[in-house]
Amino acid sequence: MTTALRHDWTREEIRAIHDMPLLDLVFRAAAVHREQPDPSEVQVCKLISIKTGACPEDCSYCSQSSRYQTGIERQELMDKCAVIDIAKRAKESGVSRVCMGAAWRSAKDNDQFDKVLEMVREVTDMGVEVCCTLGMLNESQAKRLEEAGLYAYNHNLDTSASHYKSVITTRTYEDRLNTLENVRKTSVTLCTGGILGLGETINDRVDLLHTLSHMEPHPESVPVNILSKVPGTPMAEAPDVPFTEALRMIATARILMPRSMVRLSAGRAKLSVSEQAFCFLAGANSIFSSETKSMLTSAVPSPDYDEDKAMLELLGLSMRPPFKGDKHPLGCKGAKEGGCDDHEHHEHSHAPEIACAK
Ligand code: SF4
Repeated sequence: MTTALRHDWTREEIRAIHDMPLLDLVFRAAAVHREQPDPSEVQVCKLISIKTGACPEDCSYCSQSSRYQTGIERQELMDKCAVIDIAKRAKESGVSRVCMGAAWRSAKDNDQFDKVLEMVREVTDMGVEVCCTLGMLNESQAKRLEEAGLYAYNHNLDTSASHYKSVITTRTYEDRLNTLENVRKTSVTLCTGGILGLGETINDRVDLLHTLSHMEPHPESVPVNILSKVPGTPMAEAPDVPFTEALRMIATARILMPRSMVRLSAGRAKLSVSEQAFCFLAGANSIFSSETKSMLTSAVPSPDYDEDKAMLELLGLSMRPPFKGDKHPLGCKGAKEGGCDDHEHHEHSHAPEIACAK
């Protein structure tokens, strides 16, 4: 029997699932996860910070906000060829999704956005899924990204609507939801989730899951981040999130949104292989990996490709190929070799770093 998709979970139901005895919860989530056609597949994704730092927003966990002294080096929009080089190496390492993040409040209709569209086209044409996280989008920008072949757009809700203003004051939850709606008017898939450890209560986590699971359709991808405490930010001294709380969040997300990818995201570097194995058992089926051992910026560490390959092998898990079950958006043959179309050669290969957990 396949679990039916529901979009009407009540907060009480979600809280009851979340609070089940831990092993019962993991067992139930694992049973739901086993209904996936390939429960032993894990998608490996690579983040690239294509524009780093100097962000005007005040997200209190973020190394890239211009309001905090975090020591993160600012970096203008990367050169397309450097992005393609990183994407190429990622693909060779088994990565099936490349996520490009720019520390912007919102995308602007300018030459920078045009350059991002070019990157989306060329990386997609290499035969990998491309995700972007560029801040707020209007309808026409979402449409242009769709036309460039974008596979997914990441825009995290972070936490509950009521706790949001304690974390970020420069935009509203409604702003977030509006961008998600604009993306939903296209064929671009949605990647949206949250961060644990922002001073939220369990009910805030339940509220976040309630919002996500009421989306129709569910977001195709739901990242579960564990706060990486960045010195210099207001969250630098936040209490640690116990592993079992992260596990409960992953398992509950899997039960509520049975067909979504549940992404074990920031904070994974602190987990042992055994803890990660529990997360995969409870339904996590995607991770970020990085040759530089960092997520979007160096403030948030990540295991590297070799460590992750060894872990997946040890656990009998395999890497999910790109565009599984989907038509390639650009009708690409799937493996354009050779990288950048620009003829200029760029020696420098920008070392991307952490998580604008956008
Ligand atoms: S999380 Fe994103 S929007 Fe917020 S400060 Fe960081 S880069 Fe800016």
